[in-house]
Amino acid sequence: MNTFTPVIIIGCGPAGAGASLFLSRAGIPHIILEKDAFPRDKVCGDGCSGKTAFVLRKADPALLDEIFSDESRFLPSFGVTFAAPNGKSIDVPFSAKHKQDRPPGFTSRRLDFDHFLFSKIQGPHARIIQNATVTGLSRTEQGYAVSYRNGATEEVLHCSLLIGADGDKGISRRQLLDGNAPSKTSSVGLRAYYEGVTGMHPQHFIELHFLNGILPGYFWIFPLPGGAANVGIGMDTALVRKKKINLREVMLEAISSNPNIRDRFTHARLSDKIYGWGLPMGVEPTKVSGDHFMITGDAASLIDPFTGEGIGNALYSGMLAAEAAEKALQAQRFDEGFLREQYGDVLFRRIGDELKLSYTMQKLVRYPWLFNLVVNKAHKSPALRNTLSSMFADLDVRALLRQPSFYWKVLTNK
Ligand SMILES: Cc1cc2nc3c(=O)[nH]c(=O)nc-3n(C[C@H](O)[C@H](O)[C@H](O)COP(=O)(O)OP(=O)(O)OC[C@H]3O[C@@H](n4cnc5c(N)ncnc54)[C@H](O)[C@@H]3O)c2cc1C
Repeated sequence: MNTFTPVIIIGCGPAGAGASLFLSRAGIPHIILEKDAFPRDKVCGDGCSGKTAFVLRKADPALLDEIFSDESRFLPSFGVTFAAPNGKSIDVPFSAKHKQDRPPGFTSRRLDFDHFLFSKIQGPHARIIQNATVTGLSRTEQGYAVSYRNGATEEVLHCSLLIGADGDKGISRRQLLDGNAPSKTSSVGLRAYYEGVTGMHPQHFIELHFLNGILPGYFWIFPLPGGAANVGIGMDTALVRKKKINLREVMLEAISSNPNIRDRFTHARLSDKIYGWGLPMGVEPTKVSGDHFMITGDAASLIDPFTGEGIGNALYSGMLAAEAAEKALQAQRFDEGFLREQYGDVLFRRIGDELKLSYTMQKLVRYPWLFNLVVNKAHKSPALRNTLSSMFADLDVRALLRQPSFYWKVLTNK
């Protein structure tokens, strides 16, 4: 077997699949090494935002046609419900500012969504090897030698360019980013699948419940196809440790006793075990590339620190890494400077402000009184509800949150 390929991708979650879709479009041969076999599960809230739809549309509009014509796997979603610590909630439709003929987002079990992506990346330029756990990365004159275990055998492949897309606990984050991978901003989340939760929004809004005691984390209920629900809780890992919080107990307590939540679970049934996983949050630009490599998705800590969304940024960073790979192969430049310019700089120019603003929002959510105030006022003020709605799509509107005058207006708004 020829053991050289221009590009190797480690991991076939949204980041790896995103990179593969765009490499194939550019006609670049590549190999994807994935430790599991599809269909496989991934602990997640299963909520896909407009950014996910944007990247998929860019890769191939037919992908979205398929998604929005199959409600047995993909449930369209039109907004988000925020419940403040005092229990009051507001419905915020995803902004209709950018006119489109499609719902802005959808939910899909990762078992289905990732399998869908996997089924779309096979083609003449992409070769995927499943059950292939990457165990070692070593620099060669040409680029990288990638060792992996495939069943009982150990194999080695060579490439000019490596794309790390192996998530929070993968090898590329550990080995290639070395001490540069930020961890102090990480959160931890639990996911449970339920059947029979009642009181869902008719337009399948996802729900974020900001509960006292876990701020700036939240409890969520996301409607899923087939009447099921993804229910979970997420919180800053350092706070969990510091306050010695048992997240599982807090989640089950909210379900059984919180006056705004418990009635909806009266006839609900847990349909799977409760699983936990880390959320490496993106806060500021960090190192995401080096000689002969680029890191994407969770491996590069790109999760939105306010909403906990990482699928969109994983796909987006995969797309940018593929575009940078095309330029690197054309120029035959794989050095750190070139890849930083073509990938890391572009990535943080596009999503850096968004991450920073989300971090600001995350910090504000630590103050329950402020949150209660904004939600109370938004209840009475359509204008404020509109502003909040626009914040999802419009960074200029989101930037208002940094200005004290925004809160003054909220306070004085009757
Ligand atoms: C509890 C929880 C709730 C969340 N809710 C949401 C949500 O509702 N919406 C949202 O947008 N995001 C959510 N996220 C974040 C989202 O799950 C991640 O951001 C997203 O999965 C990142 O995609 P990725 O491709 O970078 O990594 P992953 O999805 O983790 O994929 C990495 C892939 O690499 C493979 N791999 C790992 N190591 C190796 C190896 N050594 N060799 C070969 N392959 C390897 C893995 O098997 C996996 O297939 C949530 C996360 C958690 C934990």
